[in-house]
Amino acid sequence: MRHFDLVIIGTGSGNSILDPRFDGWDVAIVEKGVFGGTCLNVGCIPTKMFVHTADVARTPAVGARLGVDAELRGVRWPEVRDRIFGRIDPIAEGGKRYRAEDCANVTVYTGQARFVGPKRLDTGTGEVITADRFVLAAGSRPIEPDVEGIAEVGYYTNEDVMRLETLPRRMVILGSGFVATEFAHVFSSFGVDVTVVARSGALLRAEDADVATRFTGLAQQRWDVRLNRKTLRAERDGDVVRLHVEGPQGAEVVEAEVLLVAVGRQPNSDLLDVAASGIPTHPDGRVVVDCYQRTEVDGVYALGDLSSPYQLKHVANHEARVVQHNLLWPDSPVTTDHRFVPHAVFSSPQVASVGLTEQQAEARGVRYVTATQEYAGIAYGWAMEDTTGFAKLLADPDSGELLGAHIVGPQAPTLIQPLVQAMHFGLDARSMARGQYWIHPAMPELIENALLNLPLER
Ligand SMILES: Cc1cc2nc3c(=O)[nH]c(=O)nc-3n(C[C@H](O)[C@H](O)[C@H](O)COP(=O)(O)OP(=O)(O)OC[C@H]3O[C@@H](n4cnc5c(N)ncnc54)[C@H](O)[C@@H]3O)c2cc1C
Repeated sequence: MRHFDLVIIGTGSGNSILDPRFDGWDVAIVEKGVFGGTCLNVGCIPTKMFVHTADVARTPAVGARLGVDAELRGVRWPEVRDRIFGRIDPIAEGGKRYRAEDCANVTVYTGQARFVGPKRLDTGTGEVITADRFVLAAGSRPIEPDVEGIAEVGYYTNEDVMRLETLPRRMVILGSGFVATEFAHVFSSFGVDVTVVARSGALLRAEDADVATRFTGLAQQRWDVRLNRKTLRAERDGDVVRLHVEGPQGAEVVEAEVLLVAVGRQPNSDLLDVAASGIPTHPDGRVVVDCYQRTEVDGVYALGDLSSPYQLKHVANHEARVVQHNLLWPDSPVTTDHRFVPHAVFSSPQVASVGLTEQQAEARGVRYVTATQEYAGIAYGWAMEDTTGFAKLLADPDSGELLGAHIVGPQAPTLIQPLVQAMHFGLDARSMARGQYWIHPAMPELIENALLNLPLER
């Protein structure tokens, strides 16, 4: 049985750990699917490439309010799709080739790994290996909803919907989170008739309630949004998938040519059978780690979607850097910093958030004041004729310390970054607002004004 210095399972964020400092280590990498993981192949990157194209496709629709009458003559779907994957697929293939052929100290196993004993791993290729150290970076996968008949009718997830042969006439999206709303934006912008079926009473319900309410209201103007719906049963009739749902008004049937399921993601700890190596998990399947990303088994680290409460690529990357350091310098380990984790939703409108929502601040009994600034109240908002976007801030009334920031509107993920920086580096709201120039009349004036609107006590 071959023994390694280090085994890495999963080539998303796990693959980034190896750099020249590991050249003297005997390393194995095990990957069950395409090299590069979710973000590169079926997540962040392709979705945002589609989102940008969708934003362009929607330009005529939003131009009318500015007095520009343009027309969308069509979307060449195969060309859009092939441009995107024509860029991504070679990167994934090149990444695998590099590790397998150019890294003399790395052995690549292509198989679904599974622990068969303490620090003993079946690589899924017929070979069992052992190692001093393991990095578990096996990510997560889409949850299959508990709906009668859904597996039989055939549905899409983020793993295959971006590679559709042709655009369908209609699409039903099951789910209400960021994956569901980003795809709703993409496909509706390309001319697909989109219905969103959500169990909850709002879309993006984890956001600050003001943001979720505004987003949901706007979504209802664009898509057929069915809230508070329980999906009971799915059936297929030729090319059509039919969902039987129950809502406030009773039973309904929703149908479309394509059903996309986006109801959340579950960690892959079960596929990996981490229990066989004595590695505990939380009730939701996440591998338990400490602040150094160590599992309870000596020499075994975990990171990213497999263990993190945040299913975000920038968090997985950060955790991978922590693991990298702690592998190299176990006697002076560093800790993970999860204090101010921002996230964004690249739908339409865009959403971005960091820190506490108002509901969380209330529930935790935190003292706070809040202020809102509408895009409609800044010059660039006039330029865009935006009447619905806003930034909302929460701050400590006395110190001015920023507690949370929530933006819904154009360029929200970009606009939030200075607030993330302020929170990280302890810059208070007053100093941030008045201690620097804000370019006039640029969009960050939204943040400047929101900061100035905070009713701080001194
Ligand atoms: C549609 C979509 C859009 C997203 N957009 C964003 C975004 O805009 N911004 C953002 O921050 N995050 C986004 N995310 C989340 C982000 O993609 C993930 O948080 C991130 O990729 C997780 O990285 P990871 O390294 O933990 O796992 P992954 O990148 O998923 O890597 C895990 C790897 O392990 C492999 N694997 C799993 N089990 C085994 C096994 N038993 N044996 C061998 N190999 C195995 C998998 O095949 C995979 O390659 C998005 C996710 C989705 C689904």
